[in-house]
Amino acid sequence: MNDQPELRRDPVTGSWVAVAPERAKRPIALSGHQPRQRANGERHPCPFCPGQEHATPHEVFAFRDPSSPTDGPGWQLRVVPNMYPAVRPESLTTIAIRDSELLESVPAYGTAEVLIECPEHIHDPKELTDSQFTNVFVAYRERLRMFAGDTRLAHVAVFKNVGAEAGASLGHTHSQIIALPVVPDLLRAELDGAKEHFSRTGRCIYCDLVSEELKDGSRVIATSANFVVIAAFAPRFAYEVWILPRQHQPRYEALSDANANELARLMKRLLFTLDAVLGEPAYNWHLHTTPLHAGEPEHYHWHLELLPRTARPAGIEWGFGCHITTAMPEVAARELRAALPM
Ligand SMILES: [Zn+2]
Ligand SMILES: [Zn+2]
Ligand SMILES: [Zn+2]
Repeated sequence: MNDQPELRRDPVTGSWVAVAPERAKRPIALSGHQPRQRANGERHPCPFCPGQEHATPHEVFAFRDPSSPTDGPGWQLRVVPNMYPAVRPESLTTIAIRDSELLESVPAYGTAEVLIECPEHIHDPKELTDSQFTNVFVAYRERLRMFAGDTRLAHVAVFKNVGAEAGASLGHTHSQIIALPVVPDLLRAELDGAKEHFSRTGRCIYCDLVSEELKDGSRVIATSANFVVIAAFAPRFAYEVWILPRQHQPRYEALSDANANELARLMKRLLFTLDAVLGEPAYNWHLHTTPLHAGEPEHYHWHLELLPRTARPAGIEWGFGCHITTAMPEVAARELRAALPM
């Protein structure tokens, strides 16, 4: 046995999981936190603060003052490899290392990156300026574009954990980017469902959803020229929120700078309203977009999902994949709309 991370496929459901023994070593300061509270892990000094660049691996991307040295201060946003990756670039093969008829695993080839969203040591992304928040959405796009040429990769998972209860092990606001050699389960389920809808109707299910939700209105929380924010019709967590482009756009890579700015301003308003209504919950947001080498499908449309940790998954969720939530999405939408800043 060795410590190489592996991706293993469940022989019955086909779900991929990553087994990454090294991650057990990562610093987590979570002890004693309460469910739903936004406690934050901390290390002193913070490795994500300016002046501590030596504490992270070498940066792979940055917005920085052109006269500033790589891996030195003078940056506005910085992307560095994760010190405790679930996948590794040096696993240069995707050849199965275990491949019986039932049991399949592949080396966990890929990259895991941390996107440090601003130089200031802030925990809360709603404290980012509009231009810092825009930089975050632009940097997501740039990393996706960068990975597009690597045929060994299948998908890039872009997400953010806010608060220890949602998995953040360091407080300084950051996102994560994990490029994988397989398409994760939930994406596969969405793509299958979207394809099925397309074969029946000839239309994109997300385009249909946007127009139906706008017509109905009861789950619409906010809109902007190009985006709509809705309470999920069938949420996994109470107050689960989706943000979708109004127009058909299969790939996030196509996002313009102007739309990144519009999305950032909309997202900030949403975070203010969520914090006001739910009392600063821990949450995750994740970007769902078309897998890297899947072209420009007519049936699939990128979106962001935001899951506040309004409950702790237990037996029914873990055992059966059946989520129980406590708030009607229509009521959640009404409350969030009422608390929305201008
Ligand atoms: Zn910091
Ligand atoms: Zn669409
Ligand atoms: Zn989705």
